[in-house]
Amino acid sequence: MDLHATLREYWGYEAFRPKQQEIVESILAGHDVAVVMPTGGGKSLCYQLPAIVSGRLCVVVSPLIALMQDQASQLAQLGVPAAVLNSSQEQEERKEVFRKLYRNELKLLYLSPERLAVPSTTEWLMQCNPGFFAVDEAHCISEWGHEFRPEYRQLQLLRDRFPNAPIAAFTASATRKVRHDILTQLKLHEPRTFITSFARRNLRYYVRESAKKEKEKLLLRAIRHHRGESIIVYGSTIKTVEETAAMLNDNGISARQYHGKMEAETRRAHQEQWMNGEVDVMVGTLAFGLGINKPDVRCVIHLSLPKSPEQYYQEAGRAGRDGQPADCLLLWSRGDIGVLVHFIDQLEDKANKDTAWQRYHAVKKLVETDECRMRQICEYFGETPKAWDKCGDCDACAGLPDWMQKDDSKPARKMVYEAEVSEGQLGSMKAWRRDFARRKRVAPYVILHDRTLTELLLRQPATVEDLLQVPGIGPQKAHKYGEDILEALFTALETRR
Ligand code: ADP
Ligand code: MG
Ligand code: ZN
Repeated sequence: MDLHATLREYWGYEAFRPKQQEIVESILAGHDVAVVMPTGGGKSLCYQLPAIVSGRLCVVVSPLIALMQDQASQLAQLGVPAAVLNSSQEQEERKEVFRKLYRNELKLLYLSPERLAVPSTTEWLMQCNPGFFAVDEAHCISEWGHEFRPEYRQLQLLRDRFPNAPIAAFTASATRKVRHDILTQLKLHEPRTFITSFARRNLRYYVRESAKKEKEKLLLRAIRHHRGESIIVYGSTIKTVEETAAMLNDNGISARQYHGKMEAETRRAHQEQWMNGEVDVMVGTLAFGLGINKPDVRCVIHLSLPKSPEQYYQEAGRAGRDGQPADCLLLWSRGDIGVLVHFIDQLEDKANKDTAWQRYHAVKKLVETDECRMRQICEYFGETPKAWDKCGDCDACAGLPDWMQKDDSKPARKMVYEAEVSEGQLGSMKAWRRDFARRKRVAPYVILHDRTLTELLLRQPATVEDLLQVPGIGPQKAHKYGEDILEALFTALETRR
């Protein structure tokens, strides 16, 4: 079977990312699989592709409705029949899903762990004879992880009820305890285990100790440097979030905020505006992020010290999921240390306290020493990168970039991914994508990624046939949207450079 052909046909991608092909092949060969791959590594494709080529239903378990819907709508755009079953659906919508299921029309079905645990669900699922199960965010099954979800425990029944269906578990979580928990609780049988490096080579980690005024200045510089791009700013308290959002708005930057004390409705609206690209900057507490799948976040800024390297790695890791360069900026001040110490002092449980102290020292080392930040993170997770010594990009390796050292008034032409495009033309393509996505009721990145917009402007394809040469556009997408894309491109190319 030509897996590359399928990769090109549906996704328009040229090559597999590390380990993807081996994982796909193992699943197709009927093995249980356990995958530890960092955020943005491309885990979804590892179960979506075998579902497409195997001809059997893949049942995906995922912890959040938003995540499931995001994936199902991305798949729909690629021309892959997939559906979600959840409690928020109308009766009619649910019936439609069942009709498709019984007619064998679906390749992937997304379910919540709660739903899977309902006895009637296993009964009708047995009739559908699923080919394999994919458990996404599998660390949610472990109490040792930072996102324990008791409902995930119900997944223990999968092995007993479906003894012939392989199970593939996916997580970005690093620790050994959690990995062990996943294997035993899901009762994986001689699983093929794949662990990819924790080094995210497209991320540039910059750390800077700075007092309040300087912090503001650096924050503004970072946001201006990344204007027109998606940005997340993390504050540790609601007060910081509110003040920062106000400060940005005072400086003419439209930013939204997100924290636990806001009304759910407003919070949802803000998140949607940011996801849809109507606003670029989201300022949030750490509550913002779980279930955020936006692939084109170009900069994540922390305004204080995180509690642990794990936490930092995960939050900063929301940048650059699409594999394109992105900046992770950690602005901290001496006062943060006192806050962390105070927090640890409050802990009563001895074991918790010891762990918290270990994490505290690791964070302190990460920001205070001048060793490569990326290497320190890998080593913290127990990995010793052999192929490289220094990442070459972080502030410890390469110093701070120019844009952090002086105000940068950006030229009208812009270097993107090594190439130069006109900001006006890129802006025109983005505006088209936003409107088009709104009409199709999906997020803009579901239509085309930023990288693909840039490639379109550089390559200037003239026909639907030419479109197939553009990374990120496969025959499915070209067939569906080819004419619309070309029309938008011609309009953009006519705008003044
Ligand atoms: P994860 O679940 O591991 O965090 P995702 O599955 O969300 O990662 O994938 C992250 C991004 O990488 C997505 O935008 C996806 O389309 C892209 N991607 C995955 N595999 C490839 C590939 N082989 N080539 C190019 N892009 C890829
Ligand atoms: Mg994922
Ligand atoms: Zn480095």
